Amino acid sequence: MRCAEVIAIGDELTSGLRLDTNSQWLSERLGELGVRVLYHATVGDELEANVRVFREAIQRADLVVSTGGLGPTADDLTRPSLAAAAGRDLVQDDHALATIKAMFARRKREMPERNVAQAQFPEGSQVVPNPHGTAPGIDLTLSRDDGTSCRIFALPGVPAEMREMWEATLAPAITQMTGGNQTIRHRRLKCFGIGESDLERMLPDLIRRGRQPSVGITVSQATITLRITARGGSVEECEQQMAPTVKIIRDCLGDLVFGEEDDELQQAVIRLLRQQQKTLAVAEWGSGGLLSQWLSEADERGEHFLGGFVVRGERQSRLLAEPRLLAEHGMHSTHLVKAMADRCREQFATDVGLAISAFPRSDADGSEPGRVAFAVATGQGPGGGETHDSPFAGHPQILKSRAAKQALNLLRKRLMTTG
Ligand code: AMP
Ligand code: MG
Repeated sequence: MRCAEVIAIGDELTSGLRLDTNSQWLSERLGELGVRVLYHATVGDELEANVRVFREAIQRADLVVSTGGLGPTADDLTRPSLAAAAGRDLVQDDHALATIKAMFARRKREMPERNVAQAQFPEGSQVVPNPHGTAPGIDLTLSRDDGTSCRIFALPGVPAEMREMWEATLAPAITQMTGGNQTIRHRRLKCFGIGESDLERMLPDLIRRGRQPSVGITVSQATITLRITARGGSVEECEQQMAPTVKIIRDCLGDLVFGEEDDELQQAVIRLLRQQQKTLAVAEWGSGGLLSQWLSEADERGEHFLGGFVVRGERQSRLLAEPRLLAEHGMHSTHLVKAMADRCREQFATDVGLAISAFPRSDADGSEPGRVAFAVATGQGPGGGETHDSPFAGHPQILKSRAAKQALNLLRKRLMTTG
């Protein structure tokens, strides 16, 4: 099978009123069965547009799964549009009609005349039973001029019905089509502390098209995710295929990789603190409590992250650092932030203190960005910790979380090198 297409139908989707979660769900399931989804299409409730979308899908995909538009109302157009795209007449399926009637009878309701439409199918279709809804699905196979074929499944949009029909009918049918000997699996490696193009340059040609297993790269709020995808005969085979690629990435990137799958930096930090049986307190200015929130979520029982201070202005910063430091070095200085880290460590009697300075103006007006400073205080050895500062530039919506991540990353690296 070349590839599959998922089609989501409904004005509520194209208008933005509802998020199309069905396409995501179906694509994950198709991947698990070894089917590559190459296209997603979303289309509103308009006949001509639906016909066009189905026509295109029938040409370019060998398997098409659509959701939505199977209801009994005037805006439900999947039956006529699929019939038109396929060049088939709509014919009534008496058994399907009887099933719909029986469902109304069980609910002690009379079937409205318009529900008859739900028993209509493009000629040559199989019925996909819908045990908990009135809209049966459609299963139609079409031949193309070049001798290949396309199998189309049309399912209702109601997620619970769609899922039930997937499990009962589509999953077994598609497994039979593929021979049931393929699956697609993913692994994700999470990285922080470098730009994506610099990171790509550190990897030996892994991201090229057509590589098996494939490696993709995405960035979200300065966290880079490397997504490895393998196709094989079993989960174990996929894992075996991916292991050498994971090793290459880890060898090339070293401590830029902080975790896997859904890991976040705060979880990596709490893990290290746990391994080293250490405790942590924080002092935040610009990040306004974000560090504390993340760390308390990652350490629900409060065994390693013991608490923190949030200051919002120069006057409050005197609680954590001598006014002399503020006057001499300023609110974005490494001097001040180091004093804040030392003070929170003392006050909470923890092994480690971590601090973020006030945020400077960003570069929004095109001026040179200011710098944000970070400090780790460990209270041992010369200096008892370390400081770092970096330019405060980028989209305003990510500045706060990126600064919090930079602080966590400074601590993570410190814990990894000093043990
Ligand atoms: P329909 O089968 O088009 O009558 O859709 C029935 C209901 O299912 C809609 O009103 C939505 O609430 C929901 N729905 C339809 N399509 C989707 C989709 N792609 N993702 C999530 N929910 C959906
Ligand atoms: Mg609809």
